[in-house]
Amino acid sequence: MTAVYQGVDGAYSQLVLGHFLRERGIEMPTAGLPSFREMATAVAGARADVGVMPIENAIVGTVREGYDLLAEFDLVPVAEIQWRTDHRLLGVRGSELRDVREVLGHPLVLAECGTFLAGLDHARAIPCEDTGVAAREVARGGNPAIAALASPVAATIYDLIELAAHCSDDPRTYSRFLIVRPRHTGAANPVLALPKAARRKTSMIFSVEERTGSLAGALSILAQRNINGDKLESKPYLGHGTERVFYVDFDGDVDDANVADAIVALQSTCKTLTVLGSYDAHIGEPIGRNDNPPKALVELVREIAQPVAAIAPIGDSPFPRVSRSSNGSGTTLQIGGVRVGDGEFTIVAGPCSVESREQILSTAHAVAARGAMMLRGGAFKPRTSPYAFQGLGWEGVSLLAEAGRATGLPTVSEVMTIDQVERMAAQIDVLQIGARNMQNFDLLKAVGRCGRPVLLKRGLSATIDELLAAAEYILSEGNPNLILCERGIRTYEQATRNTLDLSAVPVLRERSHLPVFVDPSHGVGVRRWVRPLCRAAKAVGAHGLLIEVHPNPPEAKSDKEQALTFDDFGVIVRDLERIETWSHAQVTV
Ligand code: PEP
Ligand code: MN
Repeated sequence: MTAVYQGVDGAYSQLVLGHFLRERGIEMPTAGLPSFREMATAVAGARADVGVMPIENAIVGTVREGYDLLAEFDLVPVAEIQWRTDHRLLGVRGSELRDVREVLGHPLVLAECGTFLAGLDHARAIPCEDTGVAAREVARGGNPAIAALASPVAATIYDLIELAAHCSDDPRTYSRFLIVRPRHTGAANPVLALPKAARRKTSMIFSVEERTGSLAGALSILAQRNINGDKLESKPYLGHGTERVFYVDFDGDVDDANVADAIVALQSTCKTLTVLGSYDAHIGEPIGRNDNPPKALVELVREIAQPVAAIAPIGDSPFPRVSRSSNGSGTTLQIGGVRVGDGEFTIVAGPCSVESREQILSTAHAVAARGAMMLRGGAFKPRTSPYAFQGLGWEGVSLLAEAGRATGLPTVSEVMTIDQVERMAAQIDVLQIGARNMQNFDLLKAVGRCGRPVLLKRGLSATIDELLAAAEYILSEGNPNLILCERGIRTYEQATRNTLDLSAVPVLRERSHLPVFVDPSHGVGVRRWVRPLCRAAKAVGAHGLLIEVHPNPPEAKSDKEQALTFDDFGVIVRDLERIETWSHAQVTV
């Protein structure tokens, strides 16, 4: 079987997992997956034997996603590893600190290096999936103005130079990781045979009644039994008034009599209690002070490098993961503050192409004020003629991201090539695969390996089955966050730009659990027909719309015939409020 981690070669999770396997004498192929959720899914579904999850950082605090995924997927912790996170600023050969304008790093790492980054006032911090991706992107881009915060091991692997050493706010900083296994796992899983360490720890999440002394009461249950609390952190329990949820770690194993007794007592005191499990505590100093020299760790990465595709497929349908039978209740995506899926109707609006700062900012503010929930804008444009406007490229991406931040709207933009994927994902919330790339299978695999949601447009001459098969490529690489989009197909009809196949909407909703959007702008290609097709799309059951809007449509650098004015757009949004949408259940009766 396989051991999985989040990230690419050189990510801290990979180092931690490699260390664990080597130290415990376990030989097993490893695979890097695009997100912690994907990793948790693979372990929970017993498609992997072992995974690794960060749960706490000495500077930043609890990694709540880690604890929450352990609880949500009912993963069993096996061992804790404390790993020194000794971040360096890495650049390409020849670059210098004063030239750096962008610093890529995992959000946690950017937070750990807050003081250092504040001192680099000429550089912008850009979050990305993990330190391995940050270092790899810097190496691939070859741009001396872009640097990464990553480990010295990543520097060696990607042949980068150190522009600054020890960048974290405190050189003693480290992260805590938990090695996890599936709750239900085959007897051959080698972690089952591991002897328990001398020191064990237990983690739990609980909530208490909102009254004076209730937290103290819960904690005294541990104190009375001589159980040493090791960590306590709280967060608001959203949707439950002012109640809070507490994350607690303490010494001992659930099999110890006093711990078992404490848990019984806590069960009757706490409103909710999830015991995540007991595991081998880390003993001694954090591992991985990896500066001097990083050779052993570099060897470790080389030894386990290159993910193997050992995550087993499911079922024998041509699109098992996309098919409704794999998720009867329908997929819901959370994109920033926006939910997409059943019960929602999501309007995405913006220009065909990002043309200038002023154009995208004014459009973003205008569509936000009129009810758009996400902002679209192409930076890399697939144009029929090589002489037509090709988009502003990375400048357009940065402008779109800026407009998204200015309005709070999540952003959507098209990726045309594999090498754009990760850099785009670092700045843009939803990666669009355009109609012309629907069967660019390598590109589909690349977005499937990235953690960002994807909007997949139906190809100009693709059947519904071909669209679903293309979607399967993305899901099968581990990315479950996908929206399908009907945008018109080629028929013999010439009166409209394409033939908007609205019948695809109920068919897709019946056959797949994925949200379905409609793009009437490209579907019909004529401004005045966009409105009736928006109405029809909502009525036929679309989960959302993708609409082109421009401050001055006749001047648009691409697709000017179909772009709406701000006012047209406002009228359509108000109009749509009166249209009822279909639910999947209605569609199938
Ligand atoms: C676009 O959304 O601007 C676009 C180019 O779309 P499509 O791929 O559907 O033509
Ligand atoms: Mn367009």
